[in-house]
Amino acid sequence: MSKLDFLSELGIEDVNLGGFSTEWLGSGNELESIAPADGSKIASIQQCDSGDYEKIMQDASNVFTRWRMEPAPKRGEVVRLLANEFRKYKVSLGKLISWEMGKIQAEGEGEVQEMIDIADYAVGLSRQLYGKTMHSERPNHRMYEQWHPLGIVGIVTAFNFPGAVWAWNAMIAAVCGDVMVWKPSSKTPLTAIAIQKIVNRVLEPLGWNGVMSLLVGSSRDVGEMLVHDRRAPLISATGSCNMGRKIGGAVSKRLGRSLLELGGNNGIIVMPDADPELVLRAVVFGAVGTTGQRCTSTRRLFLHKDISKDITQRLVDAYSQVKIGNPLNPDTIMGPLVDGGAVNDYEAALKIIKKEKGEILYGGNKLDRPGFFVEPTLVKAHNKMEITREETFAPILYLFEFENLNEAISMHNSVDQGLSSSIFTRDMQSVENFLSHAGSDCGIANVNIGTSGAEIGGAFGGEKDTGGGREAGSDSWKIYMRRQTNTLNWSDDLPLAQGIEFG
Ligand code: NAD
Repeated sequence: MSKLDFLSELGIEDVNLGGFSTEWLGSGNELESIAPADGSKIASIQQCDSGDYEKIMQDASNVFTRWRMEPAPKRGEVVRLLANEFRKYKVSLGKLISWEMGKIQAEGEGEVQEMIDIADYAVGLSRQLYGKTMHSERPNHRMYEQWHPLGIVGIVTAFNFPGAVWAWNAMIAAVCGDVMVWKPSSKTPLTAIAIQKIVNRVLEPLGWNGVMSLLVGSSRDVGEMLVHDRRAPLISATGSCNMGRKIGGAVSKRLGRSLLELGGNNGIIVMPDADPELVLRAVVFGAVGTTGQRCTSTRRLFLHKDISKDITQRLVDAYSQVKIGNPLNPDTIMGPLVDGGAVNDYEAALKIIKKEKGEILYGGNKLDRPGFFVEPTLVKAHNKMEITREETFAPILYLFEFENLNEAISMHNSVDQGLSSSIFTRDMQSVENFLSHAGSDCGIANVNIGTSGAEIGGAFGGEKDTGGGREAGSDSWKIYMRRQTNTLNWSDDLPLAQGIEFG
């Protein structure tokens, strides 16, 4: 087992307090951070209680009155310093993500790189929060729109990207002039604490404590408080569709705004003219990477009947070579699942697969060793299998056969989720069909690359039960701001719109 010296580098060994606004807080119950690779305790965390929650919200409200008046490019400069600080901790934070969540170290470091990338992006964005100018129908009037900060953004994150999802939200919201309260997953609290410590090194000396605060606590206690709190006009929540239904419902009840990034059930369509080597690499990375625990993990593979046998055989061969083990070992391709509950979900799905007459082509077993390891699994599936319509957060890939592209698209679109999709082909008509209005119904549709591994420059998110939210690049920043339309009259008269004569 590797030495865990990255814990001291990040200043998070032993017992940690789980809340921060202007000071560290933690009057709630203890929570243990567990390493999925061997089930050992990494550290203890003192969670937040309702008193801590109140302090965090009040500090956030107070600092917002100053932060919103800081010019956006100056806020960008603060984010630039954050990006520099993240760079210094890329390896140690990447290792912690790997050790606490279970993804391999290369992916852990890749996640920190994503935090750096979005911070860099946000720095440039801080000078581009453009509003439009319109032509007024009235003489000597000027009309334009401008974008103001919203206030407190509640950020609820999933365990599988314990740093990047926060950064996607926080870096953009920061340049938009918002302040953030982050409730991380209780499965990855230590990563959140380490990130808050890195953030504090930048914000504290600048007098900006409270702009980014941390709230480690159970979803039932402080999570629910945040979601119901009218002081947070926007709740950005990443997690399962079930969670999204609950949070989305609660936020809309108080007429708040929510940004939902929920579960996926992502498919790849492989046409007969596809390059089989590209397909193989994309599918194995998409289905096995992060142990099948990405929202964009490939879960369904649609193979044209002419190449189905060949690709299936190649996949079985590739799966038998996947090295499973300690995520910090550079040779490992697939680490553990996050916890015992995830292993149970995997086993429960396999029972249903067998009951529904899916044929297990490879894997299907829990591994008998400490930690939460399972085999990557290939299943020959058919359309009547209900389990293939669900997102099982584990490395299970369902293989379907099709005869023509229309059939494949219709099978692909038949599930409730709509996050990521892709097609492998060299044929222009197939590409355009897949990308047309009648093609993929997902928020992300790729050609000749897999379903996972999005870049931060695009808007990220999905349709249908995936929640409709968009984060990261393009114009996703707009959800973190409020739009105001201004009409200015510089004439000596008061003409009314639509030419109305009044009185
Ligand atoms: P989860 O739904 O169990 O939890 C997500 C977060 O929501 C956690 O912080 C949890 O504490 C919190 N939460 C749950 N119920 C809550 C409530 N009532 N009030 C307040 N907070 C509440 O999800 P998970 O197991 O951590 O993550 C896996 C899921 O996340 C998968 O479905 C995956 O597809 C999805 N995900 C989606 C995206 C995306 O961008 N679409 C990205 C990453 C993960």
